[in-house]
Amino acid sequence: MSNHQPVEKDQLYKIRHSAAHVMAEAVLGIYPEAKIAIGPPIDTGFYYDFDLGKEENGKPRSFTPEDLEQIEKRMRQIIGGKFPFIYREVSADDVRALFADQPYKLELIDGLERGGVDEYGNEVKEKPVISTYKHDTFEDLCRGPHVEHTGQIPPDGFKLMTVAGAYWRGDEQNPMLQRIYGTAWRNKKELNEYLQMLEEAKKRDHRKLGRELEIFIFDEEVGPGLPLWLPNGAVMIDELEKLARDMETQAGYQRVRTPHLTKEDLFIRSGHLPYYAESMYPPMELEGVRYYVKPMNCPFHHKLYAAKLHSYRDLPVRFAEYGTCYRYEKSGELFGLMRVRSMQMNDAHIYCAESQFEDEFMGVVALYRRYFDLFGIDRFVMRLSTHHARGLGKKYVDNARLWAKTEEMVRKAMTHGGVPFVEVPDEAAFYGPKIDVQIWSAIGREFTLATNQVDFAVPPRFNLTFINSEGVEETPLCIHRAPLSTHERMVGFLIEHYAGNFPVWLSPEQVRVIPITEAHNDYAERIRRQLKAAGIRVQADLGTERMNNKIRQAQLMKVPYMLVVGDQEMANESVALRKRNGERNNGLPLGEFVAMVKDKIATRSAEL
Ligand SMILES: [Zn+2]
Ligand SMILES: [Zn+2]
Repeated sequence: MSNHQPVEKDQLYKIRHSAAHVMAEAVLGIYPEAKIAIGPPIDTGFYYDFDLGKEENGKPRSFTPEDLEQIEKRMRQIIGGKFPFIYREVSADDVRALFADQPYKLELIDGLERGGVDEYGNEVKEKPVISTYKHDTFEDLCRGPHVEHTGQIPPDGFKLMTVAGAYWRGDEQNPMLQRIYGTAWRNKKELNEYLQMLEEAKKRDHRKLGRELEIFIFDEEVGPGLPLWLPNGAVMIDELEKLARDMETQAGYQRVRTPHLTKEDLFIRSGHLPYYAESMYPPMELEGVRYYVKPMNCPFHHKLYAAKLHSYRDLPVRFAEYGTCYRYEKSGELFGLMRVRSMQMNDAHIYCAESQFEDEFMGVVALYRRYFDLFGIDRFVMRLSTHHARGLGKKYVDNARLWAKTEEMVRKAMTHGGVPFVEVPDEAAFYGPKIDVQIWSAIGREFTLATNQVDFAVPPRFNLTFINSEGVEETPLCIHRAPLSTHERMVGFLIEHYAGNFPVWLSPEQVRVIPITEAHNDYAERIRRQLKAAGIRVQADLGTERMNNKIRQAQLMKVPYMLVVGDQEMANESVALRKRNGERNNGLPLGEFVAMVKDKIATRSAEL
């Protein structure tokens, strides 16, 4: 089911947008000298940017936590006043008079008058009508829409969250403004659910759990954005690669391997240079030749495709590789495992004839769905980013006909396949439409996981061809896809999704054997060896600590199964099983336990 309806028309959007106006009025009541900038609704609420002037030390003046409390209180009074939101269209000059002492608004009005930008300074196609919305004493440059009156904003459904510095129009050369973020919902219950989700998300933060569960670290001397994987993390990565290999082999992919380095020429041919240079590490020069570390694997796979003559009977060709790429993300944009500078990508390129496109594309979608089922991801949406005619020859390959055609192919395939998707204009990749996959974790947190791209522009640059059934050379289409994203982003997501309670097959340590006293160490060690021989990741805790302490340690590391063994277990070759979730099974024959664990692993079961 496709969904083309713009989100900005629903009631929640109106509540959030209206709350931003009410907040601006409240701030101006407390700081009449404040300058106001923009205040749009966002995913979970709204913000508004203010300039409060400077402190004596020259730093921008900001809001205190007490200010926020006071602003919130004032907002509730304004809400209680049930002031109607009144729309009017105005001339640029009239509205300039209205905002005579608001320099940021005057700048926005200039933009509106020229056309090409909206009241937030964002690019738009049409020349907007200049309009305002007024409630109570506050009038803002605005296209709406809004609730009918302030009383429709639930007074117990919003909360001011934080203050952050934000440069005017995102430009460091401009003044630093004070941005107040608020969250707003339809009612108190929704607000509380959201706040609870944030609390839970904090506990699940992959940076925190990643350290506690000994999965990965960063090291200043190695460099920011370059994760180092500890043994536990490496186990998870191995398991994910095994999963990808199993699924891709079944789906007809072939594995390839390519180097991390290449001569500059390859990226000139692919079009990444100079276009993508900002996101690449600078070149190395040796014997007069410039080399780059690769920011993506595509050009290498294109070379592998081109290494052989292809007939239509060979297609589709599907090359898969967990390739390590390096991208120079800005320091300010690095974030745990979610935004890094070195990444191992679940990459593949599918070369196919146009007539095969829909099947291949849906094959990729089917793969996504199998992964989602496996990981218990039940909410996802695909965002189809399309081109815009304005960017042809600049942001986008200059071929209007092929853009229209491939975009329609993707749209059709997704509609036929019943894939939930939304369309986002003007955010395509350079060489074709892009499909970002957004997923929601177990606690409802949103992640952008992976990207598919349809590429009609690069295959001709690499002279990729096949001989069609009429004996004529044709250029294949190329589908870029990475359903499991990068190891970095995927592991980061999985940590938060499972709160570190990974399914058995993915758990770095699957079983821990805990002897009741030292007298049971030999038996514990014998079990460990036996499980290890069965291919199970197991440790025996033979330390001198007390048993309860050992159980606590294993719980902290979220080991799925603990086997407590003492006299009774020794006597009848059994184990007392304690599962991570608290379930117990005493006197379980060892052989039965081994068979059960092997089955959980082999089926990649989600159950303990
Ligand atoms: Zn507005
Ligand atoms: Zn690619």
